[in-house]
Amino acid sequence: MPAPRPLIGVSTSELREAKSVRPLAQGEPRQHEIALGLDYPEAVDARGGLPVILPPIEPEGVRPLVARVSGLMLSGGPDLHPSAYGAAAHPRLGPTEPELDHFELALLREADAAGMPILAICRGMQALNVARGGTLHQHLPDVVGDGVEHRQTVAGSRPTHWITLERSSRVGATLERARTKVNSFHHQSLDDLGQGLTPVAWAADGTVEAVEDASRPFVLGVQWHAEALAHRPEQGKLFAAFVDACRRYERSARPFARAA
Ligand code: MN
Repeated sequence: MPAPRPLIGVSTSELREAKSVRPLAQGEPRQHEIALGLDYPEAVDARGGLPVILPPIEPEGVRPLVARVSGLMLSGGPDLHPSAYGAAAHPRLGPTEPELDHFELALLREADAAGMPILAICRGMQALNVARGGTLHQHLPDVVGDGVEHRQTVAGSRPTHWITLERSSRVGATLERARTKVNSFHHQSLDDLGQGLTPVAWAADGTVEAVEDASRPFVLGVQWHAEALAHRPEQGKLFAAFVDACRRYERSARPFARAA
């Protein structure tokens, strides 16, 4: 019998204002849209999960929505608004989407409280940190200078900077290495760590590149865009480990569910 395919919620990356949408000649009129790179659901699909995209909805819906999935993947996206962690806006803060921030923080808190596997990518890792009471550096070059290019200009499929990994951590053990090269498309980074999160990977300039909660079956944040590197065997293992954790969660949380 094939392994069951856990349903995994994937948050969207961006909201697009109607005025920035370029409609097709015979397509839909301009409207406020959600956007998500296909690499995210494809990385889940390729490793045996069933991805379902989670649009921002009213807060009452968050609990029943999370109750229907067996894992949560938070995608990348714009800067988080610092009001989420009680700070004033830095002059170089990028465009923000507070509506999306509120929804994603609520999703994370709900999934976290349920003990559900969480894979938080790029902005997702920053949101995970904030959901657990941590803070962010709003403009990373202020803190670490320009020695490491954290906003690379080449394609996401190309790793550009090295990171050092704690070999005994979940991510170190999954990638089976203490050093690897990753892509980098972030403007912000973690400052104070959220409760229960341990840094387990760093860039050469000290920027935290991964965090995890070792007391949970699977709560992992990576600062790089793992979904754009999922075709590489070592990064693909991250998604395989995540989908496995979601499958175990589904079995324990809903033992009588019909195998999908
Ligand atoms: Mn980086």
